Amino acid sequence: MDLTIKRIQEYLKEKYEICKPEEMKNHERYFLKLIEEIGELAEVIRKNKRIENDNIKDSIEEEISDVLYYILMLANTYDIDVEEMFRKKEELNAKRYGHKISIDKKEK
Ligand SMILES: [Mg+2]
Repeated sequence: MDLTIKRIQEYLKEKYEICKPEEMKNHERYFLKLIEEIGELAEVIRKNKRIENDNIKDSIEEEISDVLYYILMLANTYDIDVEEMFRKKEELNAKRYGHKISIDKKEK
């Protein structure tokens, strides 16, 4: 099954409904966790620590995943559909910067 942003957001919602329903609208918690993970990402980038032998621990790959996790958790606390908002924002950017490419246009 391919993962989409939409599917990850649904999965996180289902997971927290079961495991931590009291935390589902805790904007501050997920914002602070996001900042923590960005700090961890800064450290592994500074040390150029990449994934080795399929072990993601303490790697740029792990921390990128953690940052995405908390961005999507934060979005979920506000019931934001990230795919929809990303599309709208790219449409705005295309007008603002005169880009000729559309996010929905697939290259053949
Ligand atoms: Mg981390």
